[in-house]
Amino acid sequence: MSDIRITNCHTHLFTTAHVPDRYPHPLVSLIRLVPGLVGAVRWGLAAVGQEHWAGVVARLERFRATGDQALQSDVLREMLPHYPGDARFVVLPMDMAHIGHGAVQADLGMQHDELAELAADPVLGPRIIPFATVYPDAPDSVAEARRAIETLGFRGLKIYPRLGFAPDHPVLMEELYPLLLERNVPVISHCARGGVAGRGLPMALADAYTDPRAVLPVLERFPELRLCLAHFGGQVDWRSYIEQGIDPLDAGARERNWLAAILDLLRSGEWPGLWTDISYTLFHFDDFAPFLRVFMGEKRVRERVLFGSDYYMIKREKLSERAISFRLRNTLGEDWFRQIAETNPGIWLGERPGGTG
Ligand SMILES: [Zn+2]
Repeated sequence: MSDIRITNCHTHLFTTAHVPDRYPHPLVSLIRLVPGLVGAVRWGLAAVGQEHWAGVVARLERFRATGDQALQSDVLREMLPHYPGDARFVVLPMDMAHIGHGAVQADLGMQHDELAELAADPVLGPRIIPFATVYPDAPDSVAEARRAIETLGFRGLKIYPRLGFAPDHPVLMEELYPLLLERNVPVISHCARGGVAGRGLPMALADAYTDPRAVLPVLERFPELRLCLAHFGGQVDWRSYIEQGIDPLDAGARERNWLAAILDLLRSGEWPGLWTDISYTLFHFDDFAPFLRVFMGEKRVRERVLFGSDYYMIKREKLSERAISFRLRNTLGEDWFRQIAETNPGIWLGERPGGTG
């Protein structure tokens, strides 16, 4: 094994306390009230021979059990054994208090504070790189994001447009992106068709906010900003790219496929601030990894891809965090794995030169 110091650029430690009580469905309140319910359903499915669905429910249970930990540090402790002892993790919080799915037990300020406490821990602190998050239409959330970056020293910003805002929202453009530039820290934006969405937000609008090209006004105005489109466009678009392909006679087809759209933006060389991460998407390993390897043959793409896993969202999938990381390292080889897991994260985080030059 070589000396690659891995930085996983996309992980989550938030817990049930940070998720609205009726998300994603009012029935969740029932599951929370009757803790053994999901286990009983799994047992019932297995008993009637529905092994596939019993497996799906078992993975959901595993996922929920992680989120049900009391502390963000508990979730971190579960992740650490999957990585070498010096690996680091960008931690992305979520502000789900304003999206119409009910109340959260611990608000964004408490979530940030707990993360700051963890970052100050002598043993665990050096392992994490905390990011702030924001819901730009809620003034208290905006003030809290500023506090996390200015006072707590958080090292970047996570935005999640599907919750119900565009990446060029005026608050982001006027207040927060300039602050990130001043601090020389990056932004990461959820970019996949799946995921959390604001309640009642039409899917077409959620997709329009999340479309890779929706960040272009941001990069036009702030060419020095380092902006990562998470999930490389997402598994739905990867699957369609692979299984349906792209119609060369349809002029808009590449833009409509978010994987192709991101590749084209990176290849153009016109958006040096644009990055992407492979989190969650590449956990469909067997299908997608050969494509990633081919895309990375191009220098402009290779130099803008970040290693990330989306822990612990991937607990819903079959392969473990460790299994995927090792398979990926085998497929890409040491040099390219180092590029996405060590070199590129260092540049994106502003720790080493090479950003938007
Ligand atoms: Zn994520």
